[in-house]
Amino acid sequence: MSSKKAVVLLSGGLDSTTCAYLAKHEGYKVYALSFDYGQRLVREIESAKKVAAAVGVAEHLVMKFDLGMWGGSALTSDIDVPTGHVAAPTIETTRIPVTYVPGRNMIFLSLGVSYAEAIGADKVFIGVNSIDYSGYPDCRPEFVQAMQKAIDLGTKAGVEGKGIHVEAPLLMLTKAGIIELGTRVGVDYSLTWSCYQGGEKPCGACDSCLLRRKGFQECGRVDPIDV
Ligand SMILES: [Zn+2]
Repeated sequence: MSSKKAVVLLSGGLDSTTCAYLAKHEGYKVYALSFDYGQRLVREIESAKKVAAAVGVAEHLVMKFDLGMWGGSALTSDIDVPTGHVAAPTIETTRIPVTYVPGRNMIFLSLGVSYAEAIGADKVFIGVNSIDYSGYPDCRPEFVQAMQKAIDLGTKAGVEGKGIHVEAPLLMLTKAGIIELGTRVGVDYSLTWSCYQGGEKPCGACDSCLLRRKGFQECGRVDPIDV
């Protein structure tokens, strides 16, 4: 097995699962990191564990902390999760949906970089996407570039070593494109969980469910969790 190491931020959703399989496909020893951050969808963590096992990761850590302490999001408090697709913000409309979690990807990526630096990993994979997405500012290329700059300047690996690269391979893909790519590298999408609600089955109506459905429809595939 290769000695190249990569940390993959693994939520158990479709995008991060695709990243885990991609990292494996690229020959990395995968160190998966999941966060139990007070989200209502605890179901996600169960999916992340199944995905980590299916990928055959070297290690899977689940870090627990509570962003619900200050809330501010429908995902970490009892604010209702909206249904029906919320269009991504444009120049004209800058409304960011209530499912946005304050500072989430900045926190997640920082923790992933800390883990990567500690174990000597070259890369941190993050499944952010700025095409078929909910309009969160921390899913855009500008955010990834700015974090890369901070990592280059603010870590020992960045200053003295070979650095740590943020790998965001899904950044500019459509949801259908992500599913096509994942299918080519053997992703088992039946293991993944996308719904923002905490139910037994996906609600089919939240932004995340709608984006997932659109993706499978556009690439002409059947979503294995719908059947
Ligand atoms: Zn849903």
